[in-house]
Amino acid sequence: MKNKEELDKLLLQFEWIILFLGFFSFVEIIVFAAYFDLEENIMLLLTVIGFIPLIVAACAAIKIEQIAGYYKCAKCDHTYVPTYSSVFMAPHFGRTRYMRCPKCNENSWNKKVLTK
Ligand SMILES: [Zn+2]
Repeated sequence: MKNKEELDKLLLQFEWIILFLGFFSFVEIIVFAAYFDLEENIMLLLTVIGFIPLIVAACAAIKIEQIAGYYKCAKCDHTYVPTYSSVFMAPHFGRTRYMRCPKCNENSWNKKVLTK
């Protein structure tokens, strides 16, 4: 039985695979639509269909980022698990997100950490 830290690390690696598959299927459909001389309506339909796996993959990746590990407040060092909506709406660079800490109620760039 693996501990939570190892499982969270695996989940965060799995997140990259999910994002890659979503992006790959999107690019594959766009290339298919661009390569063949299709009608404009069909190209538009394929583009919209291509977005679906990308959106599903992005939502799943955000869920993984929310539940795997913790976020550490830059102001007070409090570690916490944020809500899905706050992770979804937060501007970010990689896994560092600009969110409000539930303890000190300050906005800051919170880093992802695997341990409390
Ligand atoms: Zn804080």
